[in-house]
Amino acid sequence: ANRIASAQRQEEDTGEGSLRPQRLADFTGQQRSRENLEVFIQAAGARGEALDHVLLHGPPGLGKTTLAQIVARELGVGFRATTGPVLQRAGDLAAILTNLQPRDVLFVDEIHRLQPAIEETLYPAMEDFQLDLIIGEGPAARTVRIDLPPFTLVGATTRSGLLSTPLRDRFGIPLRLVLYTPEELHKIVARGAGKLDFALSDEGAWEIATRSRGTPRIAGRLLRRVRDFAAVAGRVADRAMVDAALQRLEVDAKGLDAMDRRYLRRIAEHHKGGPVGVETMAAALSESRDTLEDVVEPFLIQEGFVLRTPRGRVLAEMGWCHLGLTPPASPTP
Ligand code: ADP
Repeated sequence: ANRIASAQRQEEDTGEGSLRPQRLADFTGQQRSRENLEVFIQAAGARGEALDHVLLHGPPGLGKTTLAQIVARELGVGFRATTGPVLQRAGDLAAILTNLQPRDVLFVDEIHRLQPAIEETLYPAMEDFQLDLIIGEGPAARTVRIDLPPFTLVGATTRSGLLSTPLRDRFGIPLRLVLYTPEELHKIVARGAGKLDFALSDEGAWEIATRSRGTPRIAGRLLRRVRDFAAVAGRVADRAMVDAALQRLEVDAKGLDAMDRRYLRRIAEHHKGGPVGVETMAAALSESRDTLEDVVEPFLIQEGFVLRTPRGRVLAEMGWCHLGLTPPASPTP
């Protein structure tokens, strides 16, 4: 589903490259991860060694790809990118690894979706910069060991719990990305408007920032759509203009979109507020469980619309109020 407020990458987002920060110093938010990276990058640079492998985990649209590119730029090394599901055979991985220059960054998005065989090939590559390749078939098959240049693997995943333990353990620098605060998003939106040469009032920027579900990708997308509305209306993008545009995009005052509201309403109307299992929700909403857990729920849970309990999802009082409904007299524990 093409949701305007979805954090998942969509085709129209190809233009988002122009808003990407290029250096660590320009990267807003994620202070803890940023500060750690800064230290490790400096130390690796001073020793002239490859940076330890980095695992970035967190919901889509929070800047994992951006950070990986920045790491390469800060290290002054080359950047190669691929994704877990694209690597089908060990040979695909070998071709990439043997073509790296010393200290290069290899970015593997959706690393939790690697084939098990590829994952096993990756272990010695990450640990000893060695690759064991099987050449030939049947009785004539033999293993050859290839030395690789030292490199940095930057893996990205939506949830680190999806990774096998042996793979997770091989990342020396695990970093968890968190949803952005409105203040951080305001800074990102204001800077983005500047880059797009778009006259957006400060109040307009706040309006976008507080309605972007804590996610820079959504903030960038709303910014570009608001710019379209403003251009067509021939108006300055002040708070009222932004509000009107976001309403037409069905993004409500709290930044929830139609999908979010469908999710809340489902728990309220079909399950009396829950608890309800995530699989049941996924089937009812025709979404995959992963999409609900990675894209829809993090924001709803963080903001207190929904509670995650051992017995399933429960609509919190704020969720009821947001739908304009009264919570049942004795709420489910
Ligand atoms: P992910 O890989 O986590 O899905 P991306 O790195 O592709 O996310 O970022 C999505 C969009 O959000 C990009 O346009 C990027 O420029 C923007 N973005 C992400 N983090 C930041 C940030 N800290 N400051 C400014 N823009 C950001």
